[in-house]
Amino acid sequence: MKEAYLYEKKDDVKVRCFLCNHRCMIKDGARGICNVRENQGGTLVSLVYGKVIARHVDPIEKKPLFHFLPGSRSYSIATVGCNFRCLFCQNADISQMPTDRNQIWGEETSPDAIVQDALRTRSATIAYTYTEPTVFFELALDTARLATRKGVRNVFVSNGYMTEECLKEIHPDLHGANVDLKGFTDRYYKELCGAKLEPVLRTLETMVNLGIWLEVTTLLIPRQNDSREELTELAKFLVGLDPGIPWHISRFHPTYKLTHIRATPPESIRMARDIGYEVGLKYVYTGNLPGDLGEKTYCHECREILIDRYGFSVQKHAIRDGRCPKCGAEIPGVWK
Ligand code: SF4
Repeated sequence: MKEAYLYEKKDDVKVRCFLCNHRCMIKDGARGICNVRENQGGTLVSLVYGKVIARHVDPIEKKPLFHFLPGSRSYSIATVGCNFRCLFCQNADISQMPTDRNQIWGEETSPDAIVQDALRTRSATIAYTYTEPTVFFELALDTARLATRKGVRNVFVSNGYMTEECLKEIHPDLHGANVDLKGFTDRYYKELCGAKLEPVLRTLETMVNLGIWLEVTTLLIPRQNDSREELTELAKFLVGLDPGIPWHISRFHPTYKLTHIRATPPESIRMARDIGYEVGLKYVYTGNLPGDLGEKTYCHECREILIDRYGFSVQKHAIRDGRCPKCGAEIPGVWK
């Protein structure tokens, strides 16, 4: 049990959490929407501090981060809990455990032990992933600060619903992020995720302004967020932030509460990729389509293949000092 960061005490033993944009007002004895932060007599506590439910050494490509130390290892951790209720969650067994089963499990660990494990496994980064890192922020922040001092960088895989206060607190120690931009309508965010679109857009802007390396993922679900119009608007928004932001378009498979919807046809994924390039993005990738041409990194100037991938495996990595070896174009990303 750990006293939460980023909350304020209110009248009548209530507290206001401002870790994420739900900004829950929580009565004594109650929990926030994420169900892992509880008001105990006027003190907000994290119920998941040091309780790691998943830890794996993954290729960084699995996050997915394609322009951040390609081919490196990422020591990846999660606790249970999430501030979203995505009907299509692929990790609902752990992300929704506190909500669906009223359970909080996890192996006891500490920031120091996590960093030591990352060093032992020669991981270049620690990834806070699988569930939503915002809701285990105290563990993530303490670990990230220690990791930076030991030469290990930190990346979030997030739904982007954290507040600006949260981002500003961690940003010197947050080196990269893949943020889901799940759709581009409020209806989608409200009905399928239990959230709002606008705060996610603000987070993307803030990350760019703070200099956190950013990649964006959109899971394409048939007839939910896959219209040409919506994808064009979404891609234009990213171009407006920075055309060098890599956009990953990922294939949906029926899961959790959306088992009645078929998998995304590969042609929809490729249409979205074409739209991304048409509106001016420089790097658009296809996800969950192993062997697809959209897994490779092509130079945005001369179309030379710079990084050849199959699934999460890097077959060739030709970028030298952040530049295309053929035409010399600067390739946005974190390369060393
Ligand atoms: S982190 Fe949890 S308690 Fe805090 S505002 Fe978000 S959902 Fe509410």
